[in-house]
Amino acid sequence: MAAIARSLPRMTVKLAGQTDLDGWRTAARALAMKGVPADQVGWTIAGNASADLFAGTDHAASEALPGADSTTFTVPRAFVELAETVVCHRDPERFALLYRVLYRLREEPHLMKIGSDTDVRRLEAMAKSVRRDIHKMRAFVRFRRIGGGPDDRHVAWFEPDHFIVEANAPFFVRRFTGMRWTILTPLASADWDGTRLTIGPGATKTDAPSEDDAETLWRTYFASIFNPARLKVKAMQAEMPKRYWRNLPEASLIPDMIRGAEEKAREMVEKQPSEPAPHHAKIQARHWPAPPAGDSTTQDGADARTLAELSRTAESCRRCDLWRDATQTVFGEGPAPARVVFVGEQPGDHEDIAGKPFVGPAGRLLDGVLVEAGVDRDAVYVTNAVKHFKFEPRGKRRIHARPNAGEVKACRWWLDHELALIRPDLAVALGATAAQSLLGKPVAITKLRGQVIVRDDGLRVFLTVHPSYLLRIPDPADRDAEHGRFLADMKAVKALMG
Ligand code: SF4
Repeated sequence: MAAIARSLPRMTVKLAGQTDLDGWRTAARALAMKGVPADQVGWTIAGNASADLFAGTDHAASEALPGADSTTFTVPRAFVELAETVVCHRDPERFALLYRVLYRLREEPHLMKIGSDTDVRRLEAMAKSVRRDIHKMRAFVRFRRIGGGPDDRHVAWFEPDHFIVEANAPFFVRRFTGMRWTILTPLASADWDGTRLTIGPGATKTDAPSEDDAETLWRTYFASIFNPARLKVKAMQAEMPKRYWRNLPEASLIPDMIRGAEEKAREMVEKQPSEPAPHHAKIQARHWPAPPAGDSTTQDGADARTLAELSRTAESCRRCDLWRDATQTVFGEGPAPARVVFVGEQPGDHEDIAGKPFVGPAGRLLDGVLVEAGVDRDAVYVTNAVKHFKFEPRGKRRIHARPNAGEVKACRWWLDHELALIRPDLAVALGATAAQSLLGKPVAITKLRGQVIVRDDGLRVFLTVHPSYLLRIPDPADRDAEHGRFLADMKAVKALMG
């Protein structure tokens, strides 16, 4: 809770911590209602050396401002959402800037819509920087294992630009629920013991463990997915800025890989396609016990009353041939009912191994853009039009192959049943295959992108591209522009969600 020290004519609000949004909100509301101009208020953080300069008689915000003007005013939702993100920024002026905009909103209720306003632009730039930092943390945290047996624990070191640890920690809880982990950063730490999340003070890099076996695994994995024929050094550095390299085990391979890329690309061209790696067959055998001789039928899932039942039934689906080469069925994930469902094309290489949708590079990109757009990923259901990975083996790699109309139609059975259980009022078709499955006919995404088509059953279908399309754009400038368009699409989705 914030406290206000009054040393007229200037007031100083002392906040409890670097991201004390509640404290700021309470004090700012009271000050704005009292009509205290922004240049009469200073904002400090308790415990900061600078905060002590302002120390005086402290009062709770409500007590410090008796007789506050009873006039109330409504703050636009856009400002509230921006404030939630901006408080994580490292700029010490962020609370003052937020209060200045709040104060101006009293007289300028449409201020947030004026994109050219210096204060609004500054707030948006700060929010963008925070969202990018959140996205980078999700992509570049690498855990190292310490202890063993019951004391097994994973620890990661990360250097964020902003105070994002607390805001980002729930994401890691969801992703690594079954693991005990700690993320250390210079600004704060997050600890998950399997049941409880604790946010603590910052740490130093020496507190984090050094190399473990997982490092070798990361390097092996990175080397195996590296495709020298598609290497674009600038694009790679834009996605994985050099400043993160020092904490990424796989980064030590990058200079050598760049040097040897040309030669390896030539070798790849000369190589013939080979069979998928043996571990695919092993996982597949676990999920695909051979059906009894002569039995070509499977359960159809029509009786399933829950998504879990439906998903279990889909594990033995033989409605088309795609089950034969894929590792496992990758069913949708998310709450039911859900107001919005995101439908992609099919699981990719990562999803096929993990058995979960949208966990590969395209899924991570989608996660980041949803964060930027303010869409709560936990509130949406994500799935694919086709539940098995279709690919062509090429050397050690499995190259994505687009499902044909027959496969999409066969798998629509599962999507229809998912929709019946989820009961969304909005479906987001990510790409042409998803649109075809949702609308029952081929759709030209390039022409209809950004539009909503209402189905006979009332379900609204929003059309956009698949995030993997962005990953395939080689030129960083073009990709940035496309990222902006995709972000605009996700903001439109957010608006449609109400
Ligand atoms: S792709 Fe769909 S229809 Fe085809 S086997 Fe897999 S789950 Fe069944």
